[in-house]
Amino acid sequence: MHVAVIGAGWAGCAAAVEATRRGHQVLLLEASRQPGGRARRLDWVHEGQPWRLDNGQHILIGAYRETLELMRTLGVEPEAHLHRLPLSLRTPQGQGMALPAGWPPRLAVLAGVLAAPGWRARDKLSLLRSALAWQAAGFQCPPEVSVARLCSGLTPAVFQGLIEPLCVSALNTPAERASAQVFLRVMQDALFSERGGADLLLPRSDLSALLPDAALAWLKAQGQAVRLGTRVLGLLRHAKGWALQTACEDTPLQADAVLLACPAGESLRLLEPLDGTAGWVAAARGLSHEAIATVYANAPGVQLPAPMLALPSEADAPAQFVFDRGQLGGPAGLLAFVVSASQGERSALEAQVLAQGRRQLALEQLEAVTTVVDKRATFACTPGLERPGLRPVQTDDALRACGDYVAGPYPATLEGAVRSGLAAARSLG
Ligand SMILES: Cc1cc2nc3c(=O)[nH]c(=O)nc-3n(C[C@H](O)[C@H](O)[C@H](O)COP(=O)(O)OP(=O)(O)OC[C@H]3O[C@@H](n4cnc5c(N)ncnc54)[C@H](O)[C@@H]3O)c2cc1C
Repeated sequence: MHVAVIGAGWAGCAAAVEATRRGHQVLLLEASRQPGGRARRLDWVHEGQPWRLDNGQHILIGAYRETLELMRTLGVEPEAHLHRLPLSLRTPQGQGMALPAGWPPRLAVLAGVLAAPGWRARDKLSLLRSALAWQAAGFQCPPEVSVARLCSGLTPAVFQGLIEPLCVSALNTPAERASAQVFLRVMQDALFSERGGADLLLPRSDLSALLPDAALAWLKAQGQAVRLGTRVLGLLRHAKGWALQTACEDTPLQADAVLLACPAGESLRLLEPLDGTAGWVAAARGLSHEAIATVYANAPGVQLPAPMLALPSEADAPAQFVFDRGQLGGPAGLLAFVVSASQGERSALEAQVLAQGRRQLALEQLEAVTTVVDKRATFACTPGLERPGLRPVQTDDALRACGDYVAGPYPATLEGAVRSGLAAARSLG
């Protein structure tokens, strides 16, 4: 089949590679001049100096099985491009939980809880009791339960020091309005399933080099067509397949099958005029979004005690994590502060984060390089959310949707996007 893939984010790249592996002729169309979507390199010039940044600081984890496998297929060795660390939510003051390296998953959690500095016996017991209860329930709970409700048996120290940062970094949704069902699934896969599943894999290369650039090179080497800077404006179903109207060509492009790999809002715009898509469109319209802000700042000559630190939760301290890009292949002194589920105006947020960094990291000099705010970073992963599915029209065998927002077990993550792209291509046959 001639398969058109619309969008070259991580989902579209995965879909195009998988469709190629299944013997299809692929045409990958990307609106932007650069692939990668929300997880891509950002070339920035600050005071005459070039800085290689990302659209936002990303973390992968050991349980991202399909993403790591796809990277290997594309010739990108995860071991060379990702810095592996056992899960650590330690603050600069050394508080918070950290897991020992290389232990079997359940034992690692037990050891991490027992050794957590700053927690009293009561805190540790509350966490162990809850973890056992989640395990006994098969990591399942009713869909309408929030993470805050699920964790109501935990002490405030454990809730604030562990659950809140884990929840907001994994689901990008605050615990009060985050889905416990999805949270439990992430906990199960990361903490309780495989050795190293919870390991943090911190990119040492920019995000484009991790997967999208390699995917495009691989596709071209297989003789597939890739067009950047080509936005699809409209989709038309006809007797023999699909016509795709783009901003660049007068004559519509033709395809036997279409894999829609753009964000939910754009997919719904393309699908709405088509018959039979009302249910899908309504579900996509029902999604709301959360922002993420990344404040890149320069602290000349500074090296943090670890490449990633959790930041203590305090008033006027919006950032949850800080990354030392100097320890991750970037220039020495470049720090990336991450504010998940961020709110408020960009410059006020930047000023708050810089003040937080100076205070919590005891830095004398910390100047902003730039602040990147992605207002639609992820969908809000709320209890009972019905996400749009893989098939926008149940009876149409040549149309699929994929992306991090499409129904699946994961929140909006790179792994969710990659899995969805692979599943869409596989379902074409
Ligand atoms: C700041 C930030 C931090 C994040 N941190 C993490 C993290 O730590 N860990 C993690 O796992 N995930 C993280 N995520 C989430 C992750 O980036 C996304 O889940 C993932 O990149 C989504 O990929 P996608 O392919 O589904 O969508 P997108 O990346 O949105 O890709 C869609 C593509 O479609 C293209 N497109 C749109 N319309 C058209 C059209 N009409 N024609 C052609 N092309 C079109 C777009 O240009 C884009 O390239 C983060 C996201 C952000 C923004």
